Amino acid sequence: MIQKPKGTYDVFDTQGKQIQYLEKLFASLMEKYNYEYMRTPLFESSELFHRGVGDSTDIVTKETYDFVDRGNRNMTLRPEGTAGIVRSFIENKLYGRASIPVKCWYMGPMYRYERPQSGRYREFYQMGVETFGSLDPMIDAEIISIPVSFFRLLGLKGIKVHINSLGDIESRINYKKALLEYFEPHIETLCEDCKNRYQKNPLRILDCKIDQDKDILKNVPKLQDYLNEQSKKHYEAVKKYLEALQIPYIEDPNLVRGLDYYTHTVFEVEANVEGFGSRNVLCGGGRYDGLVETLGGPKTPGVGFALGMERLLTALEYEKIDVIQNKTLDIYVMPMGEQTKEYAIQQTMLLRMNGFTVDIDMMDRNVKSNFKQADRYHTKWVILIGEEETSTQIITIKNNQTQEEYKIKEEQLIQFFDEQIEEDMHETI
Ligand code: ATP
Ligand code: MG
Repeated sequence: MIQKPKGTYDVFDTQGKQIQYLEKLFASLMEKYNYEYMRTPLFESSELFHRGVGDSTDIVTKETYDFVDRGNRNMTLRPEGTAGIVRSFIENKLYGRASIPVKCWYMGPMYRYERPQSGRYREFYQMGVETFGSLDPMIDAEIISIPVSFFRLLGLKGIKVHINSLGDIESRINYKKALLEYFEPHIETLCEDCKNRYQKNPLRILDCKIDQDKDILKNVPKLQDYLNEQSKKHYEAVKKYLEALQIPYIEDPNLVRGLDYYTHTVFEVEANVEGFGSRNVLCGGGRYDGLVETLGGPKTPGVGFALGMERLLTALEYEKIDVIQNKTLDIYVMPMGEQTKEYAIQQTMLLRMNGFTVDIDMMDRNVKSNFKQADRYHTKWVILIGEEETSTQIITIKNNQTQEEYKIKEEQLIQFFDEQIEEDMHETI
């Protein structure tokens, strides 16, 4: 039997419903924030990620799915969403719009050749946002507020926001110098990857999962001491806005994040769920004021984040949050006999077109097993269509919870369900 590739998974059944619900909720939240939907290709020139994500990151050095296409071009399955969106922003000259900042969101699969384990896949889904054109710290806070609002809407309780500032480019250059001096006498004690990071981007040593607990990392010069006035001011303002939005945060001076392009604000949102372990980072992001220019566009500031769908699903599961419990079938239609089917499917269609979620028996079940099926769907309303209904056009409806029965004329069917079915059941969020 052919099996799915290692590190991938299939979606079906309840999980399909959960994912659709989360995607819909996220899309509607983004509409409220006035962000527009963007979609870019699943593969791009390899060079885009080398330049955009950075050659000192694990993502680019170890995790990409690279291939040479039939035209001999070096291509890479996208490991993250930002580089592609920035490429599109430049290529489509979105910077020329009058209505800046450009604020957009995306969702879709990402590919990283990682060691598969729980919360870590080779094909995984992210939802994310990017904004371009604003230097205002208010937008950093708005970006952080998006996953926070999303998690709050879902009812996730144990979430923690970690923030840090990497400062502007000048501050980073100064800090980099200090790090190089600090690590120089100790290079030999670092892991192989960090020796390489020392050459390319010493800041990334702080993010090393191997060297993290070594003494040498405990006394590292503090980035905060190297922030210039401008950078300090920006960071203070972001914190002020977070407080105004009532978003509690934890300052984490060692947070540098996995990508090379960040400046000023970086953040991660963690699910503080017991037993969740190291997979608890649900989402991460920050400001990348140099990225558009690095990729050949005009100097344009940017801020964004990306959120991992699989880890969110696990967090919901750990907190026992059932997002689809109210999202069941409104009405189940039972045709009773071959001659009633045509009429029954017409009524089914009519109800669907009027906004109800409706299904009809297609297995010629008898009444008893049809009621069992309605129970499996947790359907409150059942319509029975026998020969009498077909000829009189008076329809029998049963409330599957109270067992009450109603006889309703065909032309009053929609009105009946409009009145009966609670607003929230077919309200699309
Ligand atoms: P980590 O430190 O856990 O490897 P990262 O820094 O590589 O995370 P980002 O590139 O910032 O992660 O991606 C944002 C989010 O995408 C992460 O917070 C996580 O929820 C999710 N994510 C990243 N890699 C994977 C993966 N291999 N499988 C599933 N989800 C992932
Ligand atoms: Mg990673």
